[in-house]
Amino acid sequence: MPKVKKVPQRQCVGCREMKDKKSLLRVVKSPEGQVSLDFGGKKPGRGAYVCRDVACLQRARKTRALERAFETAVPAEVYGQLDLVAVTSVERSELLYKKQQFFQFFQNEGVRIILAVVLFLTAIVILKLTVFRRKRRPKAGSAARRGNYKGTRM
Ligand SMILES: [Zn+2]
Repeated sequence: MPKVKKVPQRQCVGCREMKDKKSLLRVVKSPEGQVSLDFGGKKPGRGAYVCRDVACLQRARKTRALERAFETAVPAEVYGQLDLVAVTSVERSELLYKKQQFFQFFQNEGVRIILAVVLFLTAIVILKLTVFRRKRRPKAGSAARRGNYKGTRM
């Protein structure tokens, strides 16, 4: 039988959707009854999960979902920490969009970019060669003049 790697799923208290545990923020109520944000996901106690999303966080706050999950008050400090780590879904989608655009640009324009670079380098080589020749020409000219001079002298 092929091994199927199971990704642990947890429900977000904001949107109530099942999501990959690692993508969610864990809030934990310790056995002593202290509610705190658990970044490592290893703190002992009862955990509740919320998306790393401002909208989900606001919804969870409004419905007092964390308070209900823990059956205790959630300190403002915890909400403050959650606010700091949460991103708006607009911000997240903008980041994803920019990333996609960047890769698409290279997929579509990659050949053209390489062509442009090759053309640019060729232009530089040609330019250098012509400048080099121009620098040599006066020498050749003066040698010829000298030759002419010699010629008239003879
Ligand atoms: Zn959510």
